Amino acid sequence: MSDKRDDTELHCSFCNRTSDEVNSLIAGQDVFICDHCILDAQIILDDSEKNKPGIKHASKAKRKSTRKQLLPKQIKKKLDEYVIGQDYAKKSLAVAVYNHYKRVDAEQFVTDYKDVEIEKSNILLLGSSGTGKTLLARTLARILDVPFSISDATALTEAGYVGEDVETILSNLLSAAEFEVADAERGIIFIDEVDKIARKSHNASITRDVSGEGVQQALLKVLEGTIAGVPPKGGRKHPEQSLVNINTSGILFICGGAFEGLPEIIARRLNVNHIGFTSNIEQRFANTDTSIFQHVEPEDLVQYGLIPELIGRLPVCAGLQSLSDDEMMKILTEPKNAIVRQYQKLFALDGVHLVFDNAALKAIVKRARALGTGARGLRSVLEQSMLDIMYEIHSLKDVGVCRIAEKTITKGKPPIYKKRKASA
Ligand code: ADP
Repeated sequence: MSDKRDDTELHCSFCNRTSDEVNSLIAGQDVFICDHCILDAQIILDDSEKNKPGIKHASKAKRKSTRKQLLPKQIKKKLDEYVIGQDYAKKSLAVAVYNHYKRVDAEQFVTDYKDVEIEKSNILLLGSSGTGKTLLARTLARILDVPFSISDATALTEAGYVGEDVETILSNLLSAAEFEVADAERGIIFIDEVDKIARKSHNASITRDVSGEGVQQALLKVLEGTIAGVPPKGGRKHPEQSLVNINTSGILFICGGAFEGLPEIIARRLNVNHIGFTSNIEQRFANTDTSIFQHVEPEDLVQYGLIPELIGRLPVCAGLQSLSDDEMMKILTEPKNAIVRQYQKLFALDGVHLVFDNAALKAIVKRARALGTGARGLRSVLEQSMLDIMYEIHSLKDVGVCRIAEKTITKGKPPIYKKRKASA
């Protein structure tokens, strides 16, 4: 895959977006301008302070106006460049994100339907570790060019307890937005490990995990949309501190979790587990293009230990599949910043062409699978195998090609080196 733009493709002469990426592209003599840049230009002209003679720079325009209003299909297509598989999750995300930003902008542009309030489409991603939940959220933020932060639900506690207040997740976003409140207010926050704040038992009377439920309660308002006073530097609030007000109604929250044990709850409801062996459940769904998580209903999540109010604030629910061997192979080599490509670039900077035998790639996948951390294991296996090679390679003379064979991965054997061709 190449980043290079096709020269025959029409694109805006100011921001370089292609006609696919904009709503309209207006042609002049040998130049084109897109709707985004027209808006930028308008803001510059409207800005009375800057309205003095001279050249105006589009980059100085408020960032707010350069929003990319990508259509769901365009969002999915961009996600495909970085994330392998997970089509269902990608589609759900693409539509949810499109609707979310439409809702955020609706106030300004739609005068009809004034009484209709579009609900927030926060998202819950369900899928085992290393299947791409964080990657999807991060990639979305990158595509949309909005600030992004990750927070861990397990670090949060109810106000007054030791740990982090829920507002810290907003502080994190504010710092990702370089303290521009307006930018932060349309950012994306990924809250990882929400499954860990579930009540430990549905039987509320005895073994209820009060702190988990307290955190869920604390998250409600922030997720729904509120004006929250946030300590700009993070940490806990204290009386003398000046707080920054952040309106969370335009912030998109994506919650993720592995939800171990949830497949069994779903399966029990679906009544697929006739034989009583729960370990079979994932396998039953593994060979189909659906994940059991796609059948999740709010009642399953309640049974798992999420409070109904929280589930109500996460109306979009998308399940991720466990990755197949084929997909793991693709993850190694295909995405724009695939890990194998990253190593190839590192080696190329030293003038060495790095190649992997197909059998070596398969061996990496096999070893990564044994780690049980999904695609995350690929990196650790590869890092382990490449360490000695990267350490040694500079002491070898004139290496032009470094070929990683199967045994390099399975038995730690040295790779096959070829000398650089002598230049004429
Ligand atoms: P989790 O589901 O636990 O949030 P991550 O998104 O953090 O998993 O994935 C860990 C790493 O594994 C990512 O950085 C990425 O390199 C890789 N990865 C996981 N799933 C995919 C996928 N579907 N496509 C491409 N890379 C993936």
